[in-house]
Amino acid sequence: MQKAPPKDKGRVNLSHILRPVIRPIVDYALPPRCPGCGGIVEEDHRFCLGCWSSMRFLGRPCCDRCGAPFDHDRGEDALCGACIAEPPAIDRARAVLAYGEIAKTVALRLKYGRRIGLARLIAKQMARHVPQEGRDAMLLVPVPLHRWRLWWRGFNQSALIAGHLGRLCGIPVEKEVLLRTRRTPPLRGLNPKQRQRVVRGAFAIDPTRKAALSGRTMLLIDDVHTSGATADACARILRRNGAASVQLLCWARVLPDDGDFASMEDDDWRAIDNSRSAANL
Ligand SMILES: [Zn+2]
Ligand SMILES: [Zn+2]
Repeated sequence: MQKAPPKDKGRVNLSHILRPVIRPIVDYALPPRCPGCGGIVEEDHRFCLGCWSSMRFLGRPCCDRCGAPFDHDRGEDALCGACIAEPPAIDRARAVLAYGEIAKTVALRLKYGRRIGLARLIAKQMARHVPQEGRDAMLLVPVPLHRWRLWWRGFNQSALIAGHLGRLCGIPVEKEVLLRTRRTPPLRGLNPKQRQRVVRGAFAIDPTRKAALSGRTMLLIDDVHTSGATADACARILRRNGAASVQLLCWARVLPDDGDFASMEDDDWRAIDNSRSAANL
């Protein structure tokens, strides 16, 4: 049998030769910038030291259910007071960062500044919060935008993040099953019960895709977790339609004790969405 000629033998890979030459030129013209403050950094999608050290990364010890940080370890399955008093519809919620200046800037730059490359950075940071166990049964579902909002913005930031996360973790993404059928007014200033009422009925399941949910662990993907009312509404409808459990994974979470940010809701930023200042973000 004749042997196949060795692949690529003798062929010069131009990109290997040119990359070290071109890269410094590109970097000189467009140096990598810190996603937080815009300062020049060594590599793309790397935070500068100042931004990095000001970000509050969330992790253990925390409430096993909602992920609210504890100041001391209370044990594996410990729950916070709020989850004991009224368990959320979400089975488990986690976020990369506590909501703060840098977390906010990155979320706004992605959403309103159209820096869609930031979705990958966010997904990379989220990946460590995806449970190792049970990935075979998992499905990533981005929190949907209403179709008018999607049309206006041109993309759903949560769907972009979910796409990258799916590729990084080898988990399928289902972008069409959960639909936002009603636009919701800003939730600012409303108490939890009122928020629940506002988002009730705002979501629906595409009946043609419902079978995909059966027995699955849904991992809802969103950029910012505020009151949890939206995620809970999604969790209820997903579970009613066959999902075995629903978890939430976000870039940033507004902590209950952060008064400054507690009133901030996704919908409050609608004004920025339409403003020219978005181009400068
Ligand atoms: Zn920075
Ligand atoms: Zn909790």
